[in-house]
Amino acid sequence: MDYIQPFNRILLVGCNECVTVCSAGGRKEVGLLSSALQSAFLSAGKSIDIKEHTLERQCDPEYVEELVGMMDGVDAVVSMACGCGVQEVARRYKNKPVFPAVNTKFMGASERQGVWAERCQGCGNCLLGITGGICPIARCSKQLMNGPCGGSTNGKCEISKEVDCAWQLIWDRLKMLGQEERYLDIIPAKDWRTAGGGGPRKIVREDLAG
Ligand code: SF4
Ligand code: SF4
Repeated sequence: MDYIQPFNRILLVGCNECVTVCSAGGRKEVGLLSSALQSAFLSAGKSIDIKEHTLERQCDPEYVEELVGMMDGVDAVVSMACGCGVQEVARRYKNKPVFPAVNTKFMGASERQGVWAERCQGCGNCLLGITGGICPIARCSKQLMNGPCGGSTNGKCEISKEVDCAWQLIWDRLKMLGQEERYLDIIPAKDWRTAGGGGPRKIVREDLAG
């Protein structure tokens, strides 16, 4: 509400991909947020015009182009996509303020209905093949390449009894797979350049990019 307070005509844009799957920014949530904003502004004595639209993908210029016909009649855009989608809309429509409606957190997996957990930090040099399919970057609180640390207790991480120790999980899985010898191999210090330590990253597939 603070973001859009100065404006009267808003375009609220959802995305049909990840944010739809996690019930954060799909068509349904666009409708819910639109109603909630209109009632909240009405209660505050201001009427606001909100147009709703949901794109197939907001991180893809091809779909973002669809918004072109709607931009003339709006003062600002609120995007319900992840941070990538918000930035793509802002990049394409440079003369419109674009605001995020969600706080993008991580690449995760659904543990059960309504619960998601971080699984990957996009480090650019995947270790899962040697760590029993458990990621020590995303799931060890210290991102240890070799663990566990001395804080691991009864399979839990020292940061909380609610958090599994990733290295306990790695050991358990390697054992289950009969690959205990893998655990004895010291994993060398990670080259963090592929993980963003070398600045903003880009992938160029020459076969696709032409
Ligand atoms: S090792 Fe890197 S790429 Fe593989 S799951 Fe972990 S963070 Fe993601
Ligand atoms: S207790 Fe386990 S998960 Fe926690 S920091 Fe130590 S090795 Fe990593």
